[in-house]
Amino acid sequence: MLLFKRTEQISAYLHKQKEMGLSVGFVPTMGALHQGHLSLIERSQKENDITVCSIFVNPRQFNDKKDLEKYPRPVGHDIEMLTLAGNNVLFLPEVDDIYPPGINIGPDVDLTSLTTQLEGAFRPGHFDGVITVVYRLLDIIRPDRLYMGLKDFQQQRIIGEMISKLSLPATLIPCPSLRESDGLAMSSRNVRLSPEWRQKAPLLYETLTLTAEKLRTADPALLKEEAINKLNGAGFRPEYFEIRNQETLMPAIDIQADQKYVILVAAWAGDVRLIDNILV
Ligand code: AMP
Repeated sequence: MLLFKRTEQISAYLHKQKEMGLSVGFVPTMGALHQGHLSLIERSQKENDITVCSIFVNPRQFNDKKDLEKYPRPVGHDIEMLTLAGNNVLFLPEVDDIYPPGINIGPDVDLTSLTTQLEGAFRPGHFDGVITVVYRLLDIIRPDRLYMGLKDFQQQRIIGEMISKLSLPATLIPCPSLRESDGLAMSSRNVRLSPEWRQKAPLLYETLTLTAEKLRTADPALLKEEAINKLNGAGFRPEYFEIRNQETLMPAIDIQADQKYVILVAAWAGDVRLIDNILV
């Protein structure tokens, strides 16, 4: 596996590969890799000649400084996993390389209808950070295809909208969420769960699944109330449990047979904030 730390070097290398007609798939991550990340890499390997994975813990998307400090950074282990997975190129930039001091690198695009709700309402500035870093990384890597997880449903929806509004040349490929055998969505934050919370954490997905099963026949407002009560009853501190339109992310008031929905949850399991969702 080739490892690049400098933006000019990886850009020059990939430029040459593309001149030779090779296609590039890109998987941006913040590291602490797990099978969920690897599933994106495998998908990219099937569909492209070269797969690039980046590991960059993006300070601008952390609204909570403590969360940034506590974010796991097992880089040596990540490199081993990527090597074993047969990943071709790893991009491991420094903060100053992604954000050259004094230069404003964010895109000029209004995505506020998607960014200010759900995660955006509870993590102010989070999506501005995500949009800026993905825009910057796309400019450096210039991939044919960009692989992102549906685990972060709102994030991939926002990036899809940015690509479409700016007519960027990459195609977004949203990939399904990988789960542990008990249903808990894989996440780099799961290692921080205490044994008790790790045992209780699958309740999030259980609640999403039950709500999804009833969605076409029951009142969404009642389903939402039921779910929040259940999570509170088990000691979670839910921030939101929402039934939204997949496209617009607007609240689902009446369920229409021809519309696609997503049910999203964010809840604190002790001192770890977990998110999950299910498509309906
Ligand atoms: P992160 O390192 O958490 O920023 O995630 C990097 C990418 O991996 C994002 O596109 C995530 O949506 C995706 N991802 C995270 N967890 C999972 C999972 N359990 N299954 C599939 N993709 C995931």
